[in-house]
Amino acid sequence: MKGPLFSIRMRASRDDAHLSGAERLVDVSTLEKVAAEMTRRALQHAHGQADCIRISIDLVSPDTVLILPLPAMTTIRVPDFRSGRTTALNLLKAAGVAMPAAESALAAIAGGASPSGGNMRGAMLVDAVTGERLEPDSRRGIRVSRMDLTPEAERELRLELEKLGLDRPQVREALVLSGKVLAAPGVVAELCWSDDPDYPAGYVAAPQAGYVRIPALKPLGDNRGGRAFFVRGNRLDLPGLINFLECRPVLFDRPGRFHPDRDMER
Ligand code: AMP
Repeated sequence: MKGPLFSIRMRASRDDAHLSGAERLVDVSTLEKVAAEMTRRALQHAHGQADCIRISIDLVSPDTVLILPLPAMTTIRVPDFRSGRTTALNLLKAAGVAMPAAESALAAIAGGASPSGGNMRGAMLVDAVTGERLEPDSRRGIRVSRMDLTPEAERELRLELEKLGLDRPQVREALVLSGKVLAAPGVVAELCWSDDPDYPAGYVAAPQAGYVRIPALKPLGDNRGGRAFFVRGNRLDLPGLINFLECRPVLFDRPGRFHPDRDMER
């Protein structure tokens, strides 16, 4: 990467409903290529072609960029999505999330977490003890932005993921997003699965466990998905946390460890 960094973000919608989004942090030589890729992605989305695409580009102040390694990664194999959900709940509990809070967040994602019953654009913020939803706007949610891999880290990560048969943009982007979420003050865990009907995998991420991929968290063909960030702490600074997640630039300069796959505990 040469010279100053730019944050580039894409939001696409169709019939006023959120369709697709993407966020990168790149130098000026890569900006046009990334803008073209984002446009293509919005036009070729599994839920249909976008009718509104917004791309914003902002210069990032270099002294605000946080450099971190990606979280460790592992996969827990599950026979079906119900077992996947049980596995996710157990991982959340181990990360310090109260079971009712984990269960209600999981049910919210499964049923469409936006007040309209559809998918949110961003993530729910969930109190890990009470299960209360803390995001100021439950249609939009919290949109994590301004994070990326350095080109070197991307090369290394792709080689490792390739060996596991997992070198896909969804996996790389989710790892980067979860890395930023886990670095946020007060976050104890994240639960995610995609809204792409052809992509049933998801993950739980937590500081100790790292990024734990679960190959099935929903039935194939289901177009609901979402994210929940679980937070706890007596003196939680909610505006500070939201500002970190949405605005603080974070670059990952190396992959984390790759642990061997495991089978779910029965
Ligand atoms: P995806 O993995 O892109 O299919 O996204 C799954 C869900 O995660 C979406 O429906 C959103 O609710 C949420 N989401 C996607 N991108 C972000 C983001 N950058 N920040 C927070 N939540 C997101």
